[in-house]
Amino acid sequence: MSSDNPFAPLPSSSVSSPSGTVYAEGNVVVSPVTATWPARCVHCNANVSAADFKAKPVWYPKWVIIVFLLSRLIGLILFFWKRRVLDLNIGLCEEHRRKRSTWMWGGGGAAAFGFVVLGVALAADMPVLMIGFALLFLGGLIVLALGARTVTPMSVEGDIARLKVGQPFLESLR
Ligand SMILES: [Zn+2]
Repeated sequence: MSSDNPFAPLPSSSVSSPSGTVYAEGNVVVSPVTATWPARCVHCNANVSAADFKAKPVWYPKWVIIVFLLSRLIGLILFFWKRRVLDLNIGLCEEHRRKRSTWMWGGGGAAAFGFVVLGVALAADMPVLMIGFALLFLGGLIVLALGARTVTPMSVEGDIARLKVGQPFLESLR
């Protein structure tokens, strides 16, 4: 870790890296938008060999959702204009990597199975099955997206992000 950090003073248990400082504040972690986090699992705080999991969580102002509901096109344009993509190297233990894969495969599998149901709906001329397709496809995508999450940005101001993480990891940064 570099000792020539220009930011001072720092909370005693904060972690500095070449890209900045990561520390707990209230119920969130404060981090530069580009940073390498300590080598501990962001969920359970287990030690890991390296913070080598590349997380690129996306943050956007929540009012964009309201605009999207009113106008899909303007909402999408605002989303791509206002969103911030973070670039983080975080720790993720084997168990939480496995759980993440399981949720992602489950969600992706459900979405894919939706197309089988769609095929049956079309082949057997059973439009009621279209509801099954919609539920499996949308539900599967939601499970996939939620399962893929590691850390969740709550706000981004300038180059500083505030993120939700696992409680044990958060406590370790106080
Ligand atoms: Zn873990």
